[in-house]
Amino acid sequence: MNVGIIGAGQLGRMLALAAHRLGVRCRLFDTTPDACGGQVAELHVGEMSDRTALERFAAGLDVVSFEFENVPVEAAAWLAQRVPVHPSPAALAEAQDRLREKQHFKQLGIPVPTFAAVDSPGDAPALQAAVDQVGLPAILKTRRLGYDGKGQSRLTMPADVAAAGRALAGQPAIIEALVPFERELSLLAVRDRTGGLAYYPLVENVHLEGILRESRPAADAPAATLQKRAEEYASALLRSLDYVGVLALELFEVGGRLLANEMAPRVHNSGHWTIEGAETSQFENHLRAILGWPLGSTQVVGCPAMVNLVGALPDPAAVLAVPGAHLHRYGKAPRPRRKVGHITICAPDPRTRDQRLAALRRLL
Ligand code: AMP
Repeated sequence: MNVGIIGAGQLGRMLALAAHRLGVRCRLFDTTPDACGGQVAELHVGEMSDRTALERFAAGLDVVSFEFENVPVEAAAWLAQRVPVHPSPAALAEAQDRLREKQHFKQLGIPVPTFAAVDSPGDAPALQAAVDQVGLPAILKTRRLGYDGKGQSRLTMPADVAAAGRALAGQPAIIEALVPFERELSLLAVRDRTGGLAYYPLVENVHLEGILRESRPAADAPAATLQKRAEEYASALLRSLDYVGVLALELFEVGGRLLANEMAPRVHNSGHWTIEGAETSQFENHLRAILGWPLGSTQVVGCPAMVNLVGALPDPAAVLAVPGAHLHRYGKAPRPRRKVGHITICAPDPRTRDQRLAALRRLL
């Protein structure tokens, strides 16, 4: 079998590594020749608008998927006329626009923070009307192409409004009430080609400066109560999009409720712990789903946790001296705010996990 992945960053790389074990050949497509996935799989370099490059990429592939959601929908649709593309270009389109996404959640009965569309943030009276609708504090986000907190402004006081509008002028936006959440959770769900569904347990995520730092399965009583509800939301979403593959639903936990923030139509950073900490990793399950193979068990193994390596790599020998530490380096040059690797800590119980995490944090 031959799988093509659009994008050759760390997610494409980890998909290729999972494919390799299954004896599936993986071909990656990226705009940059030094994309880190190219170190472990065949890499095609080109622009998404270059149909000749895409044609060459698609030749002989059984299925195409992607590792990031900002793939131009026209290119995905063009590919889908030649080879099955999962998730579908329609699902991709829904996830690329924060306004459409929130409206879609709402239509399905998935609770979301109060929001309003801001077609042109530079238009001060229109922005003020939207602020009046959702109240302060609020968060103004571009509708498209925002990630890791980019393209966002927090509005705390009335004086922040005009400056935030100017900062995002010219880009259609959405304004949301700032949720006083207790924690951020995500649900990784996977749907196969016959409609079969599987879910990983809710994951608890800690962000710093808009970047994910740590994730772990939320193995506590409140999460156990919320699991079923989160699965219902994800199931409604996956069915409505006739989705195939892994999808991450990002949620806020607030006052015993879940509010949906956004979806990622792909494997997700908050699921990296599944490589060593679950019976089947998110990467393998994504491949199984898109290839039409049975899904694997999503059962957690022991008490895992994941720590992202952002901006710099620690000494590998020191990391590997921590019992239960599994080091993943992505082969990327360190730069501020750049994700260059992660570590999964495995432990038999929560106390040991926390001790091992504390030892690791001292190294970072
Ligand atoms: P996003 O790009 O939408 O995932 O937002 C990045 C981060 O900003 C999230 O992980 C949250 O920490 C925070 N955030 C986004 N939207 C809201 C909101 N409506 N209320 C509170 N925090 C938010």
